[in-house]
Amino acid sequence: VTRELTVGLDIGGTKTEALIVDRHDQALGHAVQPTITGGTDAMLDAIVETIHAALANSGEDAHHITSVGVGIPGRVLPETGEVQHAVNLGLKSYPLGRRLTERMNAPVFVENDVRVAAIGAYHFVREHEDISSMAYLGVGTGINAGLILDGKVYRGANGMAGEIGHMVVDENGVLCNCGQRGCLETVAGGPGITRQAINAGITDSRTTTHELIEMAQSGDERARLVMKRVMQHLARAVQVLILSYDVEKVMLGGGVTNAGDSFRDLLLAELGEMKQHSDLVRLMIPDHKIEVLPPGFNAGAHGAIRMAQEKAVALKNGAG
Ligand SMILES: [Zn+2]
Repeated sequence: VTRELTVGLDIGGTKTEALIVDRHDQALGHAVQPTITGGTDAMLDAIVETIHAALANSGEDAHHITSVGVGIPGRVLPETGEVQHAVNLGLKSYPLGRRLTERMNAPVFVENDVRVAAIGAYHFVREHEDISSMAYLGVGTGINAGLILDGKVYRGANGMAGEIGHMVVDENGVLCNCGQRGCLETVAGGPGITRQAINAGITDSRTTTHELIEMAQSGDERARLVMKRVMQHLARAVQVLILSYDVEKVMLGGGVTNAGDSFRDLLLAELGEMKQHSDLVRLMIPDHKIEVLPPGFNAGAHGAIRMAQEKAVALKNGAG
């Protein structure tokens, strides 16, 4: 009996996580290693090395890998696995899918990291709730949404659907690296939150959003005001997603949401204020539509596995 292993890779700006499951979705091993960004050869070597570390962790053999799924920042052409404009990784254009297929001797499927995380979050929700539409709002260094509509990933005409981090929310705000001023992610993304905390006199640059939330809860007025502004903007982003797509669920994840339940409580409090004045908001955004991924759950790696399994089946059927 063949083992039929699937590898899920979540390639981030600083670290890469590899997760290996068997065909019953049983997790067998995993590994987390730094992402190497100084050139494509070194980066590819490091990715392969991370897969082998996960294999060693599982006690399995590379020959049993039947498919590999990859989530990576940037624009991805899923047909060819080409990655474009992955600024944080220093990639302008790189055929990652083809290169990794050569190295692993198995089909490799590549997709944008937020979209892959959306797939992972969608299947996480479907463990306890039968939904067919969902928006995943990834709040980390940047802010992006991944959309699942009628059970399928929605990419848009150019694979850019869900780039809501670059909605302008403050015309006089700080310059974003996209060229506009006051984009949502300059206010509610990780570095933006740190900047506002420092401006408010909270000078410890290590302060995470989790710590800011704890400071606010223990009565620090500066932290409370910073987080209130962040949550106001995230609440509006949630509202935009629900008004635009009428999804059954908005899942939030990413580094900024690491406080889990207390993050959700603050967000619901902001939405609660919006509901006081509006029957529409009350009707369209009940609390149960909003969830935050558990901090330990890597939606990217799980989503990459699910994507690879589905595409490998489609490939097999298409060829047969
Ligand atoms: Zn921007």
